[in-house]
Amino acid sequence: MSRITMKTPLVEMDGDEMTRILWAMIKEELIEPYIDLKTEYYDLGLKNRNDTDDQVTVDSAEATKKYGVAVKCATITPNAARVKEYDLKEMWKSPNGTIRAILDGTVFRAPILVKGIVPYVKNWVKPITIARHAYGDVYKNVEIKVPGAGKAELVFTAADGSEIRETIHEFKGSGIIQGIHNTDASITSFAHACFKYALDTKQDLWFSTKDTISKKYDHNFKDIFQDLYDNEYKEAFEKAGIEYFYTLIDDAVARVIRSEGGFIWACKNYDGDVMSDMVATAYGDLSMMTSVLVSPNGAYEYEAAHGTVQRHYYKHLKGEETSTNSIATIFAWTGALRKRGELDGIDELVKYADKMERACIKTVEDGKMTKSLSLISTCENPVILNSMDFIKAIRETYDNI
Ligand code: NAP
Ligand code: MG
Repeated sequence: MSRITMKTPLVEMDGDEMTRILWAMIKEELIEPYIDLKTEYYDLGLKNRNDTDDQVTVDSAEATKKYGVAVKCATITPNAARVKEYDLKEMWKSPNGTIRAILDGTVFRAPILVKGIVPYVKNWVKPITIARHAYGDVYKNVEIKVPGAGKAELVFTAADGSEIRETIHEFKGSGIIQGIHNTDASITSFAHACFKYALDTKQDLWFSTKDTISKKYDHNFKDIFQDLYDNEYKEAFEKAGIEYFYTLIDDAVARVIRSEGGFIWACKNYDGDVMSDMVATAYGDLSMMTSVLVSPNGAYEYEAAHGTVQRHYYKHLKGEETSTNSIATIFAWTGALRKRGELDGIDELVKYADKMERACIKTVEDGKMTKSLSLISTCENPVILNSMDFIKAIRETYDNI
């Protein structure tokens, strides 16, 4: 059988621990037999990040800007324990944070649905994709613990020295105050990424804030989205038969619960933090969530939503058998390969991605799965496979559908 030829390389970002082991298995068993794989390889494993003073992370993000599509393995975000374990020169920043800052991207997370893993919300028959604004608000706050009586003011000093001043509160006793901000540039990038991704995936876009209460702050988010929609995206949305829909956050949660899914829900930073964990849990678990970073300039970086599955890796190192679910990592590859196929006009690559995803789903629906999936599946007599045998079972399904 002849393998599919690629035109432009994918940016390949290798990672750490158990997901690094899965990465190699997936390439060997599920990709290279079918595709003459072209990648520009960046080793984001912690050792190499340390050896290169984290330059490799920056280089991989720059390459993503250049080529437009990347696939990323989960990576360790160092903490004090990791600094010791890997004898690090310093506590390097989260690679995802570094890449997101360079690409100025928004992260979209969606569950992978399979029969037998039933969402807690029974009417959710299609995936709900959460888009979280990843800048500002309470994540860049300034706080003061007010010791006693006094006046709290909000002051903006312009570059020319002029002032805008508002009283926050006249304190009669102790209390607390918090200052938060966002920028029009960041909100605009977020809005572009959301509109582009909705068009890309042909799904409705919902956006919610609390603009009735926050008449300037949240209202600014609403206005930026609405202006962009009216001036740049309305026509394309109508052509694609999809809708942009704004509503209040409390109305949105009620509608989301009653919905059947199948849309993108754009959320402010804090709302997205809270809602993405709720939605992921309600659909199953993190090992069945995909994640893609979309930049406002149209670059895409695909990854799994889970981490490096450290506990399984230590078992693997001891020579013990592991049963780690590789589906989200496989979907990161298929997502990236599909996008590459679309951009380069290689139909076989798109078909390969569709078929490989169907093979993953069918394998689980046929009762062959990893340990963690068997715990949340309603399948009566699941066959529990180890990490490698699960990947081999997916290959067998692929070859037979
Ligand atoms: P994790 O790697 O997602 O794993 C947490 C637990 O979830 C695992 O111990 C495992 O449970 C279960 N799990 C997650 N993915 C699974 C899979 N594919 N198959 C089976 N079980 C799975 O999170 P963590 O342990 O908090 O973090 C480990 C490392 O990952 C950290 O160094 C963190 O910095 C990094 N991390 C990276 C990313 C990223 O690169 N995007 C994201 C999050 C975390 P059991 O052990 O009970 O089987
Ligand atoms: Mg969180």
